[in-house]
Amino acid sequence: MKKTLQIISIQHELAMASGNGLDLDEMFQSFMQASIACLNLTSAYLFLFSDQAGSPIRFIGDTANQIFSQHISVSSQNTAHHETQNKILTRCVSEHISQHDFVSVIFSDDKFYHSFSIPEHGVLVFERVLEIEPIIQNSLEPIFKKLALSCYACLVHQSLLKEMSARKSAEDIIAHQAAHDELTQLSNRRTLTDNLKTSITYCIENNKFGALIFIDLNQFKSINDVMGHDIGDKMLKEVANRLKGITRGKDTVARFGGDEFIILLPDLGDFEQAAELVVNRTATRILDVVEEPFLIGDLIYNISCSMGYEIFPALNGSSCDVIKHADLAMYEAKTLRQRIAIRYQASMSEKLNMRSVYVTELKNALKNNEFMLHYQPQYDANDEIIGAEALLRWNNPKRLEESPDIYIPIAEDSELILAIGDWVLHESCRQLKILQENGLPDSFKKLSINVSAKQLGQENFFENICRAIKTSGIDAKQMTIEITENVLISRIHDAMLLISQLGDIGVDCAIDDFGTGYSSLTYLRRLPSSLIKIDRNFVRDIHKDAENRSIAKMIIALGENLDMNILAEGVECEEELQCLKDLGCYQYQGFYFSRPLAFDQFVELVKTRYLEAC
Ligand code: C2E
Ligand code: MG
Ligand code: MG
Repeated sequence: MKKTLQIISIQHELAMASGNGLDLDEMFQSFMQASIACLNLTSAYLFLFSDQAGSPIRFIGDTANQIFSQHISVSSQNTAHHETQNKILTRCVSEHISQHDFVSVIFSDDKFYHSFSIPEHGVLVFERVLEIEPIIQNSLEPIFKKLALSCYACLVHQSLLKEMSARKSAEDIIAHQAAHDELTQLSNRRTLTDNLKTSITYCIENNKFGALIFIDLNQFKSINDVMGHDIGDKMLKEVANRLKGITRGKDTVARFGGDEFIILLPDLGDFEQAAELVVNRTATRILDVVEEPFLIGDLIYNISCSMGYEIFPALNGSSCDVIKHADLAMYEAKTLRQRIAIRYQASMSEKLNMRSVYVTELKNALKNNEFMLHYQPQYDANDEIIGAEALLRWNNPKRLEESPDIYIPIAEDSELILAIGDWVLHESCRQLKILQENGLPDSFKKLSINVSAKQLGQENFFENICRAIKTSGIDAKQMTIEITENVLISRIHDAMLLISQLGDIGVDCAIDDFGTGYSSLTYLRRLPSSLIKIDRNFVRDIHKDAENRSIAKMIIALGENLDMNILAEGVECEEELQCLKDLGCYQYQGFYFSRPLAFDQFVELVKTRYLEAC
């Protein structure tokens, strides 16, 4: 009776310990403590199948090359393993591998080793010194089996947890990637659109206002092209961090495209005017952080940005409309070179519609031969005509007075510029030939022709120029190609190739509108161009405006250093001319001398000035 009670008590104690939760280590430790107390165990070992790296794995198939790692080892005394003990442990483990027995007992010197297989996972070995009575030993066998099963359950549970957490983190990574921009880790377009939809609905339901600010970096393309994409990428990441730094947690900061960012302010309260105030405050902060110099490597870069915004909910405005509106407003800010965020107005959409009307009209103009060229003479300090610039005019009553500044960018956007540019090239060569035949003064050296960004990137552009020269029969040395500084820098590689090809045949290159772009001195030095044209904005009031004077002075010094000629554009009065002469600039173009003239008028000017005088 006493024995039975003892057995029941031991069984109970061990069974309780082995059923203790699903954490393997915890369960095993508690079983071990109970076993040490009840059975005089000295040590317990848990051997698990493991992979090369030692992590436990589930055993599948062949056992021959299976590696074991000792997962848990608990000892009641502080005894070091000795060699015999190691051998016996190895035997215990290998017996189970070959036989898959559930329980086995090995006797060695003064110890007994009880080992149990844990199906598919490993082997559990108990070591004890004193023999337990056989009756107790036998009665405990089901408990050890239960222990092995509990270990098994724990292992399965643990690997399940591991698998679940691995899957969860894989899912988290995929979800993060689907919602974020890879480079900047900001929200991507999709997340932005989703958040915008939610926020529009929220605002409609709660009579609140929200806003979306569209940001486009200025000069970024130049930096990317001139300094390389590595620097460009670093700058975009830095811009992203700075924008994140000035927004609240509930705002969405997204990268919308290359250098376009959007900030969504989802809840700006009950009043539209208050919302507008917050937008303007945010815009000021955006400008501050974007204009803060960027230190990348050893160099400092400066950029700015243009911003447009829309407040929502607008009447019937969808999320697409809100983005489109803010984009249009940004475009307006860029065109007007505004340093503040501009709010969308319906007139901007009208302007957009007008652009598409323009495109149709430009196509018709080409078809109906409505274009013509005007020529603005260029002068030297002795008042001699040294050349002329061919300027496009649209010979249509509605458009005649319009500057090409208005429709050239539209033509540029729609690719029509290639056909128009081709026409300009051939027409100017043809008319130059006529001028030569009529007789040009010796002082007349060059006819300048403007080319656009798209033309520079055009395949066969150089061949086109050669063809125009050949067909017209002019001398290549009488032609100058004008490329604006901005276009030149944004297409620096195309430009360098073209300029050196043109140089080989004697055609010169002029950098137009100089001072408005972001040229790198390194590139300027390497450009084989021969003329810099000071932008007319720096010539305006140069005799009164100290800032313009110092900019012009710097450009003139730069030209001298790089051995380039300098021509001032937009000279409108005697005082400006005198000031330019004083600064050392000796070539001019502007209304003071002559407005751009129709071809016949230009012919007449040359005739009365030079030919009739002879
Ligand atoms: P641009 O190449 O800088 O041409 C000079 C512009 O300054 C011309 O404007 C000319 O009329 C204007 N201008 C000249 N002197 C004065 C002055 O004293 N005061 C003022 N306020 N303006 C003066 P326009 O003809 O309206 O041309 C504007 C721009 O359109 C040109 O600037 C050029 O970038 C572009 N453009 C003109 N023709 C062509 C062309 O055939 N192809 C291309 N791609 N662009 C062209
Ligand atoms: Mg020009
Ligand atoms: Mg110019």
